[in-house]
Amino acid sequence: MKKIFALAALAAFTNAQEPAKQANKKADSNAHALGYDDTPMLPGLPYRVHDIKRPHPRVVETPPQPGDPPSDAIRLFDGKDLSQWTAARRRNAVAEPAAWKVENGYFEAIPGKGDIATKEAFGDIQLHLEWRPPAEVHGASQNRGNSGIIFQGRYELQILDSYQNPTYADGQAGAIYGEWPPLVNPVHKPGEWNYYDVVFEAPKFEGDKLVKPGFLTVFLNGVLLHNRKEIMGITAHAQLPKYTPQPAEDFLILQNHNGSERFRNIWVRRLTGYDQPEK
Ligand code: MG
Repeated sequence: MKKIFALAALAAFTNAQEPAKQANKKADSNAHALGYDDTPMLPGLPYRVHDIKRPHPRVVETPPQPGDPPSDAIRLFDGKDLSQWTAARRRNAVAEPAAWKVENGYFEAIPGKGDIATKEAFGDIQLHLEWRPPAEVHGASQNRGNSGIIFQGRYELQILDSYQNPTYADGQAGAIYGEWPPLVNPVHKPGEWNYYDVVFEAPKFEGDKLVKPGFLTVFLNGVLLHNRKEIMGITAHAQLPKYTPQPAEDFLILQNHNGSERFRNIWVRRLTGYDQPEK
């Protein structure tokens, strides 16, 4: 009998504690809604797990149409003119207007009119660029719709009409030219638009010494081609690539190999500092 009474009393006591426990739990979750100051330190970082003092990422507004530039992008072509571009020769920007054709919201490489370079120099960037090989097929292998995005005027991501157009693997569309073939070939038919989304990490030098190679992460038409692939050096044809010292930032170049390649909706976001934003 005593035992039953004791158990009943314990149950009553426990029930009486429940509302207080719930209230404490609620207060606890409110107190920690914006973070903690008593959790373990994350290894190698000056922050705790859920650290209340950890800076918040800034807000970037994005358009409803995927592929259109977010609010912090630098537009390199808005469908109207080549005011962000200049002529380029031998992978150097020159102070002459870019002489490619602009019409109907795109621009087009003109045979014999050389490469073009951005007026602005860049280090690490995210790039979006849309390109279209000619609808009428001319030539074969490297002579069919050949262009390229040459990061910092040195490192070429190949643009080519690679639809049923065999060429050497490290020279087809999506190749880091002369180094790495793309993982797959998702290129559209001639006359259809293709979409590159790229993260370029520039190589880093201390004086003449390379301290970090460049890297490329590449999606073509939404499909992964390179997952942070290490760049071996400055793009070369039929030779080994190698690095030479360079400025931290340099121009983006579009190659004019055969002409007639079209481009539209090009924008970049500067990523300098994003790789280690909190140190
Ligand atoms: Mg090329």
